[in-house]
Amino acid sequence: MTTTNDLEMLDGVVLGGAHGIYDVYTDVGTLRCILRGKLRKAFARAQAQQAKPQPKFSERRARALSDPDFARRTERMEKHDSSQMALPTRLSVGDHVKVRRLPDGSGVIEEILPRQSELARKDAGSTERKAMQQTLLANLDQVAIVLAMAQPEPHFSFLDRYLAICEAASLHVLICMNKADLPHAAEVDEMIALYERLGYRVLRTSAQTGQGIEELRELLKEHTTLFTGPSGVGKSSLVNALEPGMALRTGLVSDATGKGRHTTTGSRLYPLSAGGWLADSAGIRALATWNIEPEDLAHCFVEFRPYLGQCEFSDCAHIDEEGCAIRQAVQDGTIDERRYRSYVRMYLNEER
Ligand code: GDP
Ligand code: ZN
Repeated sequence: MTTTNDLEMLDGVVLGGAHGIYDVYTDVGTLRCILRGKLRKAFARAQAQQAKPQPKFSERRARALSDPDFARRTERMEKHDSSQMALPTRLSVGDHVKVRRLPDGSGVIEEILPRQSELARKDAGSTERKAMQQTLLANLDQVAIVLAMAQPEPHFSFLDRYLAICEAASLHVLICMNKADLPHAAEVDEMIALYERLGYRVLRTSAQTGQGIEELRELLKEHTTLFTGPSGVGKSSLVNALEPGMALRTGLVSDATGKGRHTTTGSRLYPLSAGGWLADSAGIRALATWNIEPEDLAHCFVEFRPYLGQCEFSDCAHIDEEGCAIRQAVQDGTIDERRYRSYVRMYLNEER
């Protein structure tokens, strides 16, 4: 039997909010919502308790080493098995919710569904490992890393850094090589082929001619995607090509440092008319400053994984140790030397 209540309960996604009022995207439009009192109280209780520490990435790596299939399974599990995720202790942009629509067109958030992922920022000023994590964005699942084929010429060490971060954060990656209409160096094609061999999806797009835009639009459907990349590569132009006027209206994209934006700005999601959501640049800073523990870094370079555990020393950093399986693979040419150099730079915490 269908009751009126069932009819009024809608699935929604939190697009943004402040001071207890949230914009929730639903099939019948965006509703202004408040949180149901019961949820507010539950959040207050949960926040008062010490948050449970998340499983350490290095522990997962240790298991991945003893069981080659494990890494794959973990990635899937983190994406799909929501029972593994801690229940939210506060509502965040990107949360999937159940809302009840009221006769006046506003809504009440009745339920928050478990998160598939969380992008968090450590509270500023805190250096403790167990620092309070502030969730910036829930359910972000994809990052589009944008570079230009030319003007500006692509820096692939930048790409390697973001790829490693996305691996550490279990985020799906799209590599977007924009300005495909411009003449470019032959080396750029070689590099694209390398990343494709590593298993990454590389798109050649042109915001100018429209090349690749339909394909990009297709890959954004049903995902919450963050665009990042150096300034001048055409991120705003791409967003405008996807959704005319959107970049201008929203200030959606900024350069990869996320600087120039107030750090306390809450993030916001923007629905695309073809489906999917774009996350604004508040998340970029969290990615830019993402801290990968040195012992986890090698695992974030996908082609290193088959060799992990094969070095002479179990705590090998793959920098200058004897009997290093990674360095041997570089010498043999099975691991690209340039990728290895990116690893070393990141390990030594050097800027590009
Ligand atoms: P953002 O800083 O990454 O957001 O880059 P913009 O979107 O502001 O673009 C920077 C410059 O590149 C502008 O002058 C754009 O007109 C130009 N541009 C963007 N996309 C393309 C493209 O696909 N081809 C060409 N030739 N120029 C582009
Ligand atoms: Zn090694």
